[in-house]
Amino acid sequence: MIRKIINARIVDGSGEAPFLGGVEIKDGRINRVFRGPSRDRAEDVLDAQGMVLTPGFVDIHRHHDIAALLDPEFGSIELAQGITTAVCGNCGLAPFPNSDRTRAMQFRYIEPCLGKMPEDTPIHLVSEFMDALEEKKLPIHVGVLVGAGACASSVIGYEHRGFTSEERQQAVMLVRDGMEHGALGLSFGIMYEPECYLSREDQVAMAREAGLAGGFVSCHIRGEGDSLVESVKEIIGICEEASVPLNISHFKSTGLKNWNKAIFEAIDVIESARARGVRVTCDAYPYNAGATTAMSLIPPEVLEGRSTDYLATDEGISHLKRLIYQKIPGWDNMVESIGWDRVVIGGVNLAKNREYAGKSVQQISDALGMDPTEFFARLVAEEEGKVGITIFSMSETDVEQVLKLPYSVVISDSLYGGMEHPHPRLYGSFPRFLRKFVVEDGVLSLEEAVRKMTFLPAKRVGLKDRGLIEPGYAADLNLFDLQSITDQADFVNPKQLAEGIFLTLVEGKEAAANSRRLEGAYGKLLRKQGTEYEFE
Ligand SMILES: [Zn+2]
Repeated sequence: MIRKIINARIVDGSGEAPFLGGVEIKDGRINRVFRGPSRDRAEDVLDAQGMVLTPGFVDIHRHHDIAALLDPEFGSIELAQGITTAVCGNCGLAPFPNSDRTRAMQFRYIEPCLGKMPEDTPIHLVSEFMDALEEKKLPIHVGVLVGAGACASSVIGYEHRGFTSEERQQAVMLVRDGMEHGALGLSFGIMYEPECYLSREDQVAMAREAGLAGGFVSCHIRGEGDSLVESVKEIIGICEEASVPLNISHFKSTGLKNWNKAIFEAIDVIESARARGVRVTCDAYPYNAGATTAMSLIPPEVLEGRSTDYLATDEGISHLKRLIYQKIPGWDNMVESIGWDRVVIGGVNLAKNREYAGKSVQQISDALGMDPTEFFARLVAEEEGKVGITIFSMSETDVEQVLKLPYSVVISDSLYGGMEHPHPRLYGSFPRFLRKFVVEDGVLSLEEAVRKMTFLPAKRVGLKDRGLIEPGYAADLNLFDLQSITDQADFVNPKQLAEGIFLTLVEGKEAAANSRRLEGAYGKLLRKQGTEYEFE
C-alpha cells in the first residue's frame, strides 16, 4: 500500500501551475500535500521521479448503465484512460426507470447505445438501480443521472404525444425517486423518442424537480445542425423557467455549411445567458466525428407507426429516398447536411453484415453498385434498426473552439452497445485530449486541460470531494509521463486500450498499473452530497 508519493509534478486540478511536491494518503483520502523535493526512502513511499500527478479523471458523460451492472470487464477500458469516476444515465437514455408495459420497447430502443438489458430484470426504479450498484464491487466510482426519456417511456411508451397532467405528475415522481436517492441530476435527450414529442410544460416540470433536489440538467439538445442555435435557445429557456443549472451535452455544430459559423452563434447565446445570470455550461468530446444509431438518420415521418420492415419494401425505400436529401423543418437531416460518404457503419448484429463495419455507406454502396439510400434502408431493416454508426460531421476548429471555452469540460460520450467497430472515444478520449490538445497542438496548458478532466466535471455533477489534490479529497490519482500518455484507438482500429499511465489509484488503492486494470475493485456508487448546487 502506498502511503506517500514524492517528487511528483503535481497538477492539482484547480488550474494552478504545476509544482514539484508530494502527497500523503490516509484511509483513501489525501491527508497532506507538500511542496519541494523529498529523499524519503521508506518502503511505502513511491518516488515519482518528476512524473505528472493529477486527480483521477472524471467522465460525466458515458453510457455504462448496463455495463456497470452486468459486464465483468467494466473498468478495464476506463482505467486504461485514467478514469476513476464515470457518470451514466446520459442523453435521457437509460434502462431505469421502466414499466412492465413498455420495458421491452425501451430496452430495444436503448440497445445500440447502452447494450442488452435482460427483460426479466427485477429493477424498475432508478433508486433500485443505485441500490444494485451499491451492492456490487465496482472498479471505478459510478454516478447516476435520471434519464428523462426513460421516465417518459415508463409512462407513455413511445407514443408520439405529450403527457396528460396525470402522466406529467407520474413522470415527475419518477424523477423524484432518483433525485431523492442520490442521483446527480436529470438528463434530457430531446432529439430522441419519446422526448421529442413532449411539451415544454412536460420538460419544465421534470427539470424543475431535478433543480429542487439541488441537481442539474444535462441535455442532448433537439438539433446540432441547422437548428443548433434554436435548440440551444430552447433548452436554456426550459432550464431558466425551471430554475435549474444546465449543462449542454456534447456541444457541437454538425453539417458542412454550418462549420466555423453556427458554433460561434450558439456560444454567443450561451454567453449572453451566462451574462444575465443563467447557469449554463457545456461539455465536448475531443473528436470531429460523432457516434449514434442508424435510426437517428431516418426522417421520423418514414417510420411513423411502422416497423423497420417497411424499409425493405419498395414503398419504404422510395419514401426514404424522397426525404433523405431534403431539409425537414424541426428535424436535423444529417444525410442532407453531410452526405453518405461521411456516415460510417459501426456495429451490426448479423454476421453477414459484419464486413461493412468501418466503411462508409457511400463506399459500400459504390462497391455493390447500389443506391446508398437503398443499401442503408435494407441494412437497417435487416438489423431491425440496431445499427451503430460513426458520422464525420464536425470541423476540427469548431471542436477546438468548444474545448477552449473556460466552462467546457471533456467527456467521452462512450457507447456500450457492443459494436464491432465502436467510436474510438470509448477507448481513448482522455489520453487523446492530453496528447493532441496539450502535447502536440499546444492549444491548452497542461493545468487547464487537467482542470477540464477533474475538478470542473466533478463540480459540475455536484461531487464535492473529487477532482482536486487537496487534503480531505478522495485519493483518486493518476501518475504519468506527459510524453508517454496516449490513445491507441483510432477510426480504423478502435478497440485499442490507451497507454502510458504509470499508476492509477482509486481511493488510495492501486487500481491500474501501466494502463492495465489490476485485480481488486475499489470504486463505489457516488450519491449526490447535499441539496446545494455550486455553479462553476
Ligand atoms: Zn447524446
